[in-house]
Amino acid sequence: MNPFSYERASDSSAAVRAVSAHGAKFLGGGTNLVDLMRDGVENPTRLIDVNHLHLDEVTRLPNGGVRVGASVRNSDLANHEIIRAHYPLLSQALLNGASPQLRNMATTAGNLMQRTRCYYFMDTAFPACNKREPGSGCAAIQGFNRIHAILGASDSCIATNPSDMNVALAALEATVHVEGPSGKRAIPIADFHLLPGSTPHIETSLKPDELITAVELPAPKFAKHSYYLKVRDRQSYAFALVSVAAGLELEGNTIKSAGLALGGVALKPWRSLEAEKSLKGAAPTAEAFTKAAKLALDGAKPQKDNAFKIELAKQSIVHALTLAAKGAQA
Ligand code: SF4
Repeated sequence: MNPFSYERASDSSAAVRAVSAHGAKFLGGGTNLVDLMRDGVENPTRLIDVNHLHLDEVTRLPNGGVRVGASVRNSDLANHEIIRAHYPLLSQALLNGASPQLRNMATTAGNLMQRTRCYYFMDTAFPACNKREPGSGCAAIQGFNRIHAILGASDSCIATNPSDMNVALAALEATVHVEGPSGKRAIPIADFHLLPGSTPHIETSLKPDELITAVELPAPKFAKHSYYLKVRDRQSYAFALVSVAAGLELEGNTIKSAGLALGGVALKPWRSLEAEKSLKGAAPTAEAFTKAAKLALDGAKPQKDNAFKIELAKQSIVHALTLAAKGAQA
């Protein structure tokens, strides 16, 4: 591991000032960053500890929504009574991530910023990785790419976003609040994570000197009918091959609105507006769910080792929507 200095920020303005130094990075739970530092993938020269900024509360908002502080631990968020009662989709997604020990340390902001688990990105013995070393190539395109993207990939990078939480946040239409040298701003979750294009090393719309302060959820719509389905090689402590965050707002036997996002298929949580639109006004039937699944996978392009993901994703969508309609709990 490269040598680095450590500094504990006392408030968000001080944190923003401190991170503007060359080579500085924020340190939250450290569950991803420290691993990457040990492996030589990340080499910050200065760590700004942002665990003591009093950003660790979950609060109800006058508009019926909820504000989640950036430092709220994943375990605390998953088990918070407001989240369990009104946003079970988020609670389920969080509990499907990592292990209990990791969830106890990992923060909301850190989870948003998780980096891909592409084997070639994680192992510096492979020189070709445009995300780690821009312009070096992509070892995964010709290599073993069973876990890689089927949607939104590019000739530069075919990695996926590893987070479960992010998939639920996409279906719930969350907003990310950030603070930087020129003030505060809010970024819709749909615009927060970026597709790789020709610049896969730029992963989010967050600027290097901006600090995530909170995530805001709109008033709940899917509390009674939502389901997070994760398909993976092992039942625990494994990343999704495919995951589905499904939420339905039902009025009698009619879908008033729907939220549908996929994980494990793209470099950002893949929300399908077309699928959501097709569900709106329909009855919650297998036929409507199958049509939505087909629309969500429209344009999917497999790599040589992961064609199975397309059918797996379609079937997972139908299954998750069916369970959501029944009001099942994951
Ligand atoms: Fe790097 Fe992306 Fe290629 Fe993986 S898929 S080797 S992260 S450029």
